Amino acid sequence: MNRIGFGTDIHRLEPGRPMVIGGIVIPSAFGPAGHSDGDILLHAVTDALLGAVAAGDIGSHFPDTDERWRGADSTRFVLEALSLTRERGYRIANVDATIDLESPKLRPFIDAIRARVAELLAVDVDCVSVKAKTGEGLGPVGSGSAISATAAVLLERRS
Ligand code: MG
Repeated sequence: MNRIGFGTDIHRLEPGRPMVIGGIVIPSAFGPAGHSDGDILLHAVTDALLGAVAAGDIGSHFPDTDERWRGADSTRFVLEALSLTRERGYRIANVDATIDLESPKLRPFIDAIRARVAELLAVDVDCVSVKAKTGEGLGPVGSGSAISATAAVLLERRS
């Protein structure tokens, strides 16, 4: 049996914060505010993995009131969610994600982001899709005050 999961995340952008997306540092004068490193892509993928096995959400596993997660490297969240799906007998079939960000343009970094996410999830890079779009000047993304991400993941039962 296959299982599908879906995750979203949004963070405010603030000057002077590092912009880390999918574990890759993007040169930018602004970055996501947050308790952890604010990696919206890894947060959305973590929530998609947890959602696929109905195991709660990133906030229940890694509460932002917990000092352990202050400035945390979000790769830790995604790796823990991944191991939870494995314990339950699943492996990842594919991941499809979209990042919404007005600037900088992410196209030059997409392949590095895909490669890093694939490495973290221990899947082939062609199993990981990362797309980027702008807010067309509309809403919090379009005004440059937020970055958001959505991710879908398909799990298949290990034979
Ligand atoms: Mg987040």
